[in-house]
Amino acid sequence: MKQVVIATKNKGKAKDFEALFNPFGYEVVTMFDVAPDMEIEETGTTFEENAVLKAETLAAALNTIVIADDSGLQVDALGGEPGVYSARYAGDHDDEANMIKVLENMKDVPEEQRTARFCCALAIAGPTMETSTVFGTCEGVIAHEKRGANGFGYDPIFFVPALDRHMAELSADEKGAISHRGNAIRKLALELATLLK
Ligand code: IMP
Repeated sequence: MKQVVIATKNKGKAKDFEALFNPFGYEVVTMFDVAPDMEIEETGTTFEENAVLKAETLAAALNTIVIADDSGLQVDALGGEPGVYSARYAGDHDDEANMIKVLENMKDVPEEQRTARFCCALAIAGPTMETSTVFGTCEGVIAHEKRGANGFGYDPIFFVPALDRHMAELSADEKGAISHRGNAIRKLALELATLLK
């Protein structure tokens, strides 16, 4: 079976891609399976740059098709912060500290200026194909306090007006149906037949 590598060591993320690639005869594996010791530094200044960097570096190293994602939170009143620095805004992958920093920076910002969005760039690269990217977003509002216990990252402080709940109050399926990553994956699905030709 042909293989596509997802540039993550997170098996959960790989699951999202299995349903997409299996119909094309591709098995989905993660970096954890094929390059567990490889670290790729995210030096880009945009989500797309980081996704392309990760996908192309790994595709060249492994000589196979690779999908990479880069995601984060953009808060309008903070000039787009934390953006590409979302994972390390206050502390490295310290979700709690990162949320506290956003809430603190937003404490005097009035309701109508609390708009924000989650963003996800996906890049697909391979030895015999041109690199392609898709971008998905999910619009919301920065709440004043945390709510909900599902999800990860900034989900507890991200209010989704369309569903009248915080992101961390949604089930995995509810989140996937509206999330930035879900939206990016659905866009990629539309292009996949052409890309893999
Ligand atoms: P990445 O793993 O480099 O893409 O960094 C993503 C970071 O952005 C995470 O560590 C979270 O802080 C944030 N983030 C991305 N997607 C989500 C999400 O779906 N919910 C909450 N936070 C997210």
